[in-house]
Formats: sequence, C-alpha cells, structure tokens
Amino acid sequence: MTPGTGRTLTAYRFGRAGARPKAYLQAAIHANELPGVMALHHLLPMLVSADAGGRIKGEIVVVPTINPIGLSQLVGNNHLGRYDFLGRDNFNRNWLDLSDAVEERVGHRLGRNAAENVALIRKAALAALAVMKPVNELQALRVEAMKLSIDADVVLDLHCDMEAVLHLFTAERDVHGPARVLAADIGAEATLYNEPYPSPTTFSGANGALWARLAERHPQAEIPQACLSATIEYRGQHDVNHVLGDSDARNLYRFLVRRGIVSGRAGVLPRLKAQPSPIAGMDVGYCPKSGMLVYHLPKGARVKKGMAVCEVIDPLDARGPKARTQMIARTDGILFARRLDGRLAWPGAVAFRIAGQERLAHRKGMSGLDD
Ligand SMILES: [Zn+2]
Repeated sequence: MTPGTGRTLTAYRFGRAGARPKAYLQAAIHANELPGVMALHHLLPMLVSADAGGRIKGEIVVVPTINPIGLSQLVGNNHLGRYDFLGRDNFNRNWLDLSDAVEERVGHRLGRNAAENVALIRKAALAALAVMKPVNELQALRVEAMKLSIDADVVLDLHCDMEAVLHLFTAERDVHGPARVLAADIGAEATLYNEPYPSPTTFSGANGALWARLAERHPQAEIPQACLSATIEYRGQHDVNHVLGDSDARNLYRFLVRRGIVSGRAGVLPRLKAQPSPIAGMDVGYCPKSGMLVYHLPKGARVKKGMAVCEVIDPLDARGPKARTQMIARTDGILFARRLDGRLAWPGAVAFRIAGQERLAHRKGMSGLDD
C-alpha cells in the first residue's frame, strides 16, 4: 500500500488439495480478537500430527491470523483491530457477494442435479475471484481470503466479543441440521441464526449466503446449502489461556472428525447447551446517554424481561442514585454478551445482547450486527 511495506497471509493446508469435505478456518479478522487464534494455536499441532498419520480424509485450510492490516494498527500502545484505518470499514462487513458473478457465469446451467450445481457454482465463484482486481490492501485481503474459503463445505470464522460466553452466529438454513451439531460440539451457550440468511456481508455470511441467494433465484434447480458457514464468538477478548485454547481446539477437532474431514471416532455428541434463537429475538441494549457503564448481571446470566441489566451513570449529576439510568431487558433469555464495568458509554453504544426465543417488534428488519 505504501513504499517499503508489504503484507503476507500464512495459510496451512492439510490433506490433499481438492479432497472432500473441505473445511476452512480463520481467526482474527477483527485483529484484536485473539481467543480464536489461541484455539488455532492448539489445533494446528493436532492437525499436523493427524496429517502425518494419514488421518485427514478431506482438506483443511487454516489461517491463524487472517488480517495483517488490522494486526498492525497500533496507536499509542493500543491495538485497534476492528475497523480499517484507511476507509473506516468494519473488517467483518462488506465481504464479497459473489451471487451476481456466479449467476452471470453459470446461472443458465443450474438444473436438477445437486452435485453438478455445487461443482458449477464453486468453479464459477473461484473464477470470479480470480479475475478481480483489488485496488487496495483491504480489497486484496477480502479476495485472497475468499479464494481460500468459497469452495469449502465448512467455513468457521473465529471471533470474540468484549465480555461474553461462547456463542455462535449462523443461518436458518443450517441451524436445524449441521449448525446444531457444531454448536453442540463446541459447547456454544447461545446460537443465533439469521432468517433466512445473513444480509450484512460478514465473512461467514458471504460464504454461506451465496448458496441461499442462488437457491432463491432458481427455485426449480436443486441448490443445496453446500457450505455450513458460522461465526464462532470465543467468549471475551481477554479469555486467552491454554486451558480454554486446548479445550476449544479439541472440540473443533472432534467436530472435524464428526464431519468426516478427519478420520476417527467423534463419540457421542455433547448435549446442546441452549436452543438456537432467531436474530430477530436478540435484544440489543443501546445506551440511551453518555456516562459510565456498570452491570448488575454477569455474562451468561439467564434474564427475565423487565430486569435491569446495567446502568449508565452520569458523572456530572450529584444526585447519587438519580444519576443512574437503568437499562432493562426486553426479553427472557441469555445475557450472552456485555461490555466491561466502568467503560465509557455513549448514546447508541451497544451495552449488551440477550438471546431470546421470541421475535421482538423493535428488532424487525435489523441485521443483528450493529457495529
Ligand atoms: Zn469480531
């Protein structure tokens, strides 16, 4: 991008190129979210040894840190890895929707044979990426990452929240089948799904929605959801340690075995910790004013509608308790993500998220991912 600088991506490949099923895993597209990197740190040696032992049946591509741009964004001893400094884009939005490009190339050839359609679509998507001419490093990053992921059967994008329990974002098309299995295997304490598929083009959304969009355009053709694509939120930003990293890696490995990508016995599927809930049922607490955030409830708490989750304290108001504005849960559910106590809040800032089963009127038409 600038004289004297360059970026590289490091991708590990296991198994034979082109073997199926293919899994693609990446971490830290939000470059300051390292718990997923820790999980991959523990998973990589497991895959190295499985590969040496001939146990990789499909193909696995792992990119431990996908975002060298964000990794370099150090300012005054702070690491700011969520938004691109150049265009202020959220690194996990505006990924490429390839459905038009695929439509143009092979739309007229999609018919009743599902396997043929899958092969045609994957090939067309890769061909579309191959001719793209990115004009800056962020665009280049997006194209290169999707070249690795778009033909995969499983795409797992590893993130975290600020303070959270392990949770998962996926699409309705997956949630009743393969994503349920994923959620059980990784121990997700909340699973949220977009209906029918994600509209904001997150990385996992772009990979999964390609199939949904084409299926919608071609109701007569057999277009399966050929890619299980999910965003896994590995708890909070500071939840990076060997105990969690090791157990998260083992759970991912077991899921890869269960999917037949690695040979072995996956064993009994762990019990699903929480029923999946629709994004439209996710209560998002937006701060009504500026002040200091203080929570009444810990992450993971089961909440009831009407409970005070946290409060915003106006430091310039001398009236003690009257200086505190309560923020109330508008649904029953799991408080799966919150911020840190003592954080500065501002109007519109997200203070918490609750996974509830009931669709909320005020959430209609919202994507669920606000920032
Ligand atoms: Zn993230």
